[in-house]
Amino acid sequence: MAGLYIHIPFCSKRCLYCDFFSNTEMGLYKDEYLHALLKEMEMRKGYLEGEALETIYLGGGTPSQLDDADLRRIFDTIYHLFEVKEDAEITLEANPDDMTTEYVSALKALPVNRISMGIQSFDDADLRFLNRRHTRKQAIEAVGICRENGYENISIDLIYGLPGQTPEQWEENLREAIKLDVPHLSAYHLTYEEGTPIYRMKEEGRILPVEEDVSVALFDILIDRLTDAGYMHYEISNFAKPGRLSRHNSSYWTGKRYLGVGPSAHSYNLESRQWNVSSLAHYIYGLRFSAPDYEIETLNIHNKYNDYILTKLRTCRGVSLSSIKTIFGEAKYAYFLKQANQFILNGMLSRTDDKVALTRKGLFISDGIISDLLWVNFYTKQGV
Ligand code: SF4
Repeated sequence: MAGLYIHIPFCSKRCLYCDFFSNTEMGLYKDEYLHALLKEMEMRKGYLEGEALETIYLGGGTPSQLDDADLRRIFDTIYHLFEVKEDAEITLEANPDDMTTEYVSALKALPVNRISMGIQSFDDADLRFLNRRHTRKQAIEAVGICRENGYENISIDLIYGLPGQTPEQWEENLREAIKLDVPHLSAYHLTYEEGTPIYRMKEEGRILPVEEDVSVALFDILIDRLTDAGYMHYEISNFAKPGRLSRHNSSYWTGKRYLGVGPSAHSYNLESRQWNVSSLAHYIYGLRFSAPDYEIETLNIHNKYNDYILTKLRTCRGVSLSSIKTIFGEAKYAYFLKQANQFILNGMLSRTDDKVALTRKGLFISDGIISDLLWVNFYTKQGV
């Protein structure tokens, strides 16, 4: 079973923190982009080696910037080229202010069966600061419109750790989110990626990132409030009601094959990873001459091990010691145990029979822990 990711690289304006690849010139590029996208799917249909699609995810950018006729062309091509499982999870990322009754009822006539909405905050001051297009009122109404039109499978994204954010403000945000009772919620701490406007603001001293103890408190509040409300904390940033885990994201974490099409999209076929060029002009130009512009990395046993640790430890299932030994051999198994032991002793990782997983204490510094378990660090430490 496999996944298909389609990158829709258009936004009507750019958010302050965003480093995803997108372009605000949809009027100039849309037709050529769609032509290139459909051609790429045709050229790369063999990538999945005939596996049926279990999940399809239209991400971006802002897929809800495309009208229903554009989306219909994309779905017609998908269904023509690939076998799609009858119960496939088919997600469209959307901005709340695109979700008018007319638009959502048109989506309902398409195969889309899950909506992932970038709400980010229920506080209008936060939304203005982040340069989002919508208001708190529009976000709440958009969820209602989805429901009125038959969409129950809704996920919302939130951002926390904004400059000056207090635990009380975050509590209020989460109260609104919980009131909406959506089955899935993703929450990410604000990061300052180089090249983004918010990064420059920080560098120029115009804003101050929250202190680490506030970040920890916000993360704790997030986990407590959502688990109290019946959500399962199944991945560092993801929470779901029972049976509503994101099947698409879960397939990334469980190492399934996926094809990514569109500029900057990543693909994985168990033996290699490849990623398309992050430029709309180069993407279109390459496809015009049937020569997609991408880079590829062939995976050896070392980076397969690293991928396994990176993806599995992010989830509540953690890693299986017997799998490490069977798949990657004695040397990697011994290395993992040696590296993990310090974190087991200080309570950052837990070990239960065959399973090693991040503890609540370890979740907040997961990047540092995971990086110490990766094989590349072994070579660095040995000076090789
Ligand atoms: S809408 Fe999404 S993809 Fe577009 S700029 Fe904002 S965060 Fe980035």
